[in-house]
Amino acid sequence: MKHLYRTLTWVEARERAEQGAVIVIPVAAIEQHGYHLPIDVDNVLVEHVTEEAARRSEGLILTAPMIHYGFNEHNMGFPGTISIRETVFIDFCYDVAHSFVRQGYDRIVFVNGHGSNQMLCNLAARRIVNTTKALAAAVAHWSLAREAVDRLRESEFPGGMAHAGEFETAMYMYLNPDLVEHDKITPRETPSKLNNYIYDDLFGSGPVHMVNRWSRVTKTGVEGDPMLATPEKGKEFAECSITHLVKFARLFRDLVVPPDADFNYQNPKL
Ligand SMILES: [Zn+2]
Repeated sequence: MKHLYRTLTWVEARERAEQGAVIVIPVAAIEQHGYHLPIDVDNVLVEHVTEEAARRSEGLILTAPMIHYGFNEHNMGFPGTISIRETVFIDFCYDVAHSFVRQGYDRIVFVNGHGSNQMLCNLAARRIVNTTKALAAAVAHWSLAREAVDRLRESEFPGGMAHAGEFETAMYMYLNPDLVEHDKITPRETPSKLNNYIYDDLFGSGPVHMVNRWSRVTKTGVEGDPMLATPEKGKEFAECSITHLVKFARLFRDLVVPPDADFNYQNPKL
């Protein structure tokens, strides 16, 4: 069965909505990833996880064409970065998901590959839930790799797996080894923990949210420990994410939605 939405005819798109396929929308960014990685890292990683999950899901998941660009104003000090304004981005993600709802799909998952997109994907998903009868959810692909990360991580927490560090470099080494510039991999630059309240890592940020302009905190564009990355780790991270995305899609498909209730006073004058 076809697993990529873009390969369907419109007749097949209608059939798959009727069969209850779960739509996965990959969301990424084009942005700098240090001296050693290309600007398409977020796209490559999320594309692999979402398309492989769909391929292995036996018709359950249909993966939509990717949203390539993300919210990235903080990175504009580095060439290679494209940024979409946050409000435009939320509306765009919502419109894509809402188009699926209008076709009859009722389970939508944004799978995100760029940290700063996450809160915006969450909001787009919530707007779908608030305005339609469909369910929409959002997840970062690395959050689904936590088991493998707990097993294999060597870099310091927090910070070793923040941006173009151990995690992203490992996955890119696995997926696109020829494009990794090994001789340009840089050692850990600055401590990413600003204080006990503000710090950043893919696997847990500090209690206070504050994202500085990236060029103020790094000269290479990296935050993390890319020197600890290996393709073997990258494969394990990817496999873990894929497995859990398929498992989640199955649970999401089967989630029972209770009926709406309205406990407000029904004012007869209104
Ligand atoms: Zn990235």
